[in-house]
Amino acid sequence: MTQIKWSFAVITNLLISIVVVGGSWLMTQSDLQRSAYEVARIKGDSLFHLIKTTRSWNSSHGGVYVPVTVGTQPNVYLDTVDRDVTDSLGRKLTKVNPAYMLRQISDQLEGGDVEIRLASLQPIHLLNAADEWEKKMLPLFEDGQRDSIVSLEGDTFRFIAPLPLEQSCLSCHQNDKYQLGEVSGGISISFPAQQIAQLVDGLVAQSKNRYLLVFCSIFLLGMGMFLLASFLSKKLANSADYASELLQLANLDSLTGVLNHRAFIENSELEFKRSQRRGSELSILMLDLDHFKKVNDTHGHQAGDEVLISIVDQIRFNLRDSDVLGRWGGEEFCILLPDTSEKSAYQIAERIRITIEKMTLNLVQDHSEENISITVSIGSAERKKSQSSVVSEQIKKADQALYKAKNAGRNQTLVFY
Ligand code: GH3
Ligand code: MG
Ligand code: MG
Repeated sequence: MTQIKWSFAVITNLLISIVVVGGSWLMTQSDLQRSAYEVARIKGDSLFHLIKTTRSWNSSHGGVYVPVTVGTQPNVYLDTVDRDVTDSLGRKLTKVNPAYMLRQISDQLEGGDVEIRLASLQPIHLLNAADEWEKKMLPLFEDGQRDSIVSLEGDTFRFIAPLPLEQSCLSCHQNDKYQLGEVSGGISISFPAQQIAQLVDGLVAQSKNRYLLVFCSIFLLGMGMFLLASFLSKKLANSADYASELLQLANLDSLTGVLNHRAFIENSELEFKRSQRRGSELSILMLDLDHFKKVNDTHGHQAGDEVLISIVDQIRFNLRDSDVLGRWGGEEFCILLPDTSEKSAYQIAERIRITIEKMTLNLVQDHSEENISITVSIGSAERKKSQSSVVSEQIKKADQALYKAKNAGRNQTLVFY
């Protein structure tokens, strides 16, 4: 039983710990995964902001002139009269507009960790043509979305933010369907997920240890509480047992184990009232052992005690569970018989009397071969329906009948009339 109780406590505790800690662990994992996207978005946003500011700077100057080199040839898509100029020193300069500048930056970044490029669904420069992923994202901006988009594609974070058409763009985009302020493309940024994944993995590993600690603490705490609860309940059960033992001791006669005088009166008062309420029959028997003093004098007090115990066993044997038996005092016993008429009570009394008369007593303390014979005198009184009496009056009547039985020669039953 104890083993089952402990197995139950361990399993319940384990389940609670798993549900509580496991649930919270799963939520933390999903938070950490979300955080990885947030970090990627922050990184993309800051790069996007930097590029946008650089483009605005370029645009605010109406483009910037740089020397023509092998890598920086005049922009064939820029159709303005002042595209190519020669400075006072005779150097050939060409105008770099924001789009061309970003193209140049993209070329510079090529082969590195971070890729930044202009992506468009209607590119002027073929290298700005949207790739498959960008082709799916750019229409969202055309539909009105203004927030940047982050997505993990394989082991690369892809970021794209809308780029509305500015005044400076119109020189090249004048023939496009796009109006000023409309989104003609986006700044597309890619970077490896590894760095952020490493950060998240580190946090996952840290939280794993913490959750393991929390799991063990909750489990041990639960077991501790169970231990405390079972200790307290055992204590309570013990004190309840002790209380009922005390109650029994207070109600029972220590020698014979039947109700003592006080408890008998309490019990019989209840039975008496119940019988009055129901109008049922009820009888009282009062028993007194005959010449019991002689038993003590001849065989000793302890032998007398043994006789009393044996006699109580015989009386009990002749009674029903519902009958109330008590030791009235010394060698006198009182019996309340519920639902018992005068006639039935007499029969029961006689049965008891004859049983005792026929008893053969082999006393442990007594080494003599002599058998002790003992008899009992009994007085009986029935509760008369017409009389509203109390139990003590009824007992008194039985006692009077007993007194008469004694005077009439003992070892007999007399009924009170
Ligand atoms: P009677 O037939 O008139 O009742 O005679 P009796 O000797 O039984 O009556 P009496 O009242 O003179 O004596 C009762 C005796 O019962 C006296 C007492 O020593 C004995 N007795 C009472 N209680 C106990 C007990 O608990 N143990 C023993 N061994 N004897 C007891
Ligand atoms: Mg007596
Ligand atoms: Mg007696």
